[in-house]
Amino acid sequence: MKIRVGLGYDVHQLAENRDLWIGGINIPHDKGALGHSDADVLLHVICDALLGAANLRDIGFHFPDTDPNYKDVDSKMLLKDVIELLTGKGYRVGNIDSTVCLQRPKLNPHIPEMQSVIAGLCGIDPEDVSIKATTSEQLGFVGKEEGISAYAVVLIQG
Ligand SMILES: [Zn+2]
Repeated sequence: MKIRVGLGYDVHQLAENRDLWIGGINIPHDKGALGHSDADVLLHVICDALLGAANLRDIGFHFPDTDPNYKDVDSKMLLKDVIELLTGKGYRVGNIDSTVCLQRPKLNPHIPEMQSVIAGLCGIDPEDVSIKATTSEQLGFVGKEEGISAYAVVLIQG
């Protein structure tokens, strides 16, 4: 059996009059993330980590932000496509560990729902999807509520 790891990192600006999608769910807030798609930073880093683990380039390579097909696309569709690419190469997801960096709002109440959405898309148990949340203590673009960032590490098996 082959075991591989992958890493994902992503940033989105926060702006008013946008929905805030994180981990496949819509979180009530006075700002949302800006992007060509729904700008779901957590799903994007998971996609990138999975693609990296399978050496399948990155999310921008497969879903270019110049392609009108991906305008405001639900990032759950992107993750579904990434899982198909992995399956096509003979891999399945082992586990996911991730961190979302956001000053406000508190993500902890939403984490169980995000885990179950992501686990469903990846065909794994919610127990194998770890999501952590951190602020940046008012420092930098996260602390000043100008943006949101996230990191993910995944393990895949084939
Ligand atoms: Zn992104």
